[in-house]
Amino acid sequence: MTERMEITGRFAPSPTGPLHFGSLVAALGSYLAVRSKGGTWFVRIEDLDPPRVVAGSADTILRVLDGLGFEWDGEVVWQSQRYGYYSEMLDELKRSGHLFRCTCSRREVLASAPHIGEEGPVYPGTCRRGPQKDTGQSAVRIRVPDLNVCFRDGVQGEQQQNLEQEVGDFILHRADGQFAYQLAVVVDDIAAGVNQVVRGADLLLSTPRQIFLYRCFGKQVPAYYHLPLVLGRNQEKLSKRDGPAITVNKDNGSGLLWCALDFLGQAPPVELQNMPAPEILTWGRQNFSFSKVSAVNNTVTFC
Ligand code: GLU
Ligand code: ZN
Repeated sequence: MTERMEITGRFAPSPTGPLHFGSLVAALGSYLAVRSKGGTWFVRIEDLDPPRVVAGSADTILRVLDGLGFEWDGEVVWQSQRYGYYSEMLDELKRSGHLFRCTCSRREVLASAPHIGEEGPVYPGTCRRGPQKDTGQSAVRIRVPDLNVCFRDGVQGEQQQNLEQEVGDFILHRADGQFAYQLAVVVDDIAAGVNQVVRGADLLLSTPRQIFLYRCFGKQVPAYYHLPLVLGRNQEKLSKRDGPAITVNKDNGSGLLWCALDFLGQAPPVELQNMPAPEILTWGRQNFSFSKVSAVNNTVTFC
């Protein structure tokens, strides 16, 4: 008998505004990928960075998801309540000797970078042997190797990135005291037992950093599926600029859910279009397949 591993996935929105069509696609993709296989699906609010959090938006997101019939397992996890845990996990990495304090300002990093990578200026390892100044404020970075991190994304195919040459030693704890997204997302997914990460392709270039952190913690790397991005009018990732039509609410929710299924290439029947959201989700659970999801970012007609 072959033992099938149960799938655990999650949707991890940042509460920087109400749920919009682009995040609905990520919510739906992660939900269906798990529920079509009878697995576990969590919701985590990534309210790590207080200045970016818009008051009330997390509750709006949760209310809209709930109203559409997305049922999540367990309690919602709030990153803002987990600083103690991030700090413990950071200490664990510290003991491995991979971390160092960095006193470089943003401007200094920009000036010293050998080049600007796709993810910003590449940090050239300036403070690896010790911080350059003795100012009180310092960030904590992790030293990365000059090696390619390779993985196969379930939607985007084979990927590779040389962390040292394309990103540089990256920040885990910022000089302003905030924990970095890269650390929080990995330790939260480890804690929740997440073994399948389905999210927007804007995070594809973060994935090698995250895989590297899994290895540092000695943990199993999840399977990754990066969904195509929804593009707005200017052919850029959908955002508030694209107007109120993309904001999901209780009136347009089921229509947008159908559009999200369609965007994911699932070819939902037209008759489903006017059905209540829970029925659209049921059809999705019965019919979802990653093989139908395109890797190519695309616009949607209603925008
Ligand atoms: N919070 C991130 C976002 O909303 C998603 C993080 C993730 O799925 O890993 O873009
Ligand atoms: Zn530095």
